[in-house]
Amino acid sequence: MEKSIIKVKSMSFSYNNQPVFNNFDLDIYPKTFVSIIGRNGSGKSTLAKILIGLYEAYGYITIDGYLLNNFYLKKIRRSFSVCFDNADDHFIGETVRDDLAFTLENLEYSPDEIKNAISSIAKKFKIENILDKGPESLNNSEKEKVALASSLIHNPKILLLDEMIHKLNQTDKKLVFKILKEYQEEGLTIILITHNLEDTLFSDRIIVLEQGKIIMDGPKEEVYADDKLEKLGFNLPFIVKLSHNLKLYNLIDKIYFDEKEISDKLWN
Ligand code: ADP
Repeated sequence: MEKSIIKVKSMSFSYNNQPVFNNFDLDIYPKTFVSIIGRNGSGKSTLAKILIGLYEAYGYITIDGYLLNNFYLKKIRRSFSVCFDNADDHFIGETVRDDLAFTLENLEYSPDEIKNAISSIAKKFKIENILDKGPESLNNSEKEKVALASSLIHNPKILLLDEMIHKLNQTDKKLVFKILKEYQEEGLTIILITHNLEDTLFSDRIIVLEQGKIIMDGPKEEVYADDKLEKLGFNLPFIVKLSHNLKLYNLIDKIYFDEKEISDKLWN
């Protein structure tokens, strides 16, 4: 099996003697798109904060081959980009352009490289028209696109999105997932932490956390074929519910993730 790009082994973490993780193991493989879901309080945010080095846990964690500790944190940050839920907090520059330049300036890109990278990412995210605007004049969807664009502008190897894409409007959401898929094809590993199961439909693997433990883990097709998620009280994505219902009537034989595929199957 391919070597993990993120490896967590025997990790334990407590808040003031309140254990959240106890001997927790997790392997994330390169170039995969993994969703981590779980009910409130299951440990999703804590895990994200541990992985980015904000909270120190016991155990063994490596990211892109580096042991997660203060010594390697700067190196890890080059390849590991993180986007948290409050897009306002991501904004550092006075304008979108300054904001996008910020990471690259820190990484000592030349002015020409910065100019080219900004124009290329702005085109991808369709934010060319707001490059000279300040954060106060952007809507929430634009702010989230800018936050994502700045996280991706230096081509990291891993992107962690923690409850990040909820303020995108439908058009931008489609665009963002298309862009994420393209980055994945070029080698990006994506970890999406979310409570909205609709957002997991683009991932390959789904991990379900419950009280600091992994209770389900597998390809999206397998996790959604199981009725355990529904029994646990999760609100399944519409397309998955539809597939389950049609399967019940023997109209289809597996879970589909694309409405067009279902209608082709039903009418052909
Ligand atoms: P999730 O992101 O899945 O909602 P969290 O990681 O926020 O879960 O929480 C996991 C557990 O840790 C919960 O029992 C929560 O009450 C507790 N917790 C989270 N943050 C803190 C904190 N800052 N101090 C003490 N307990 C916390």
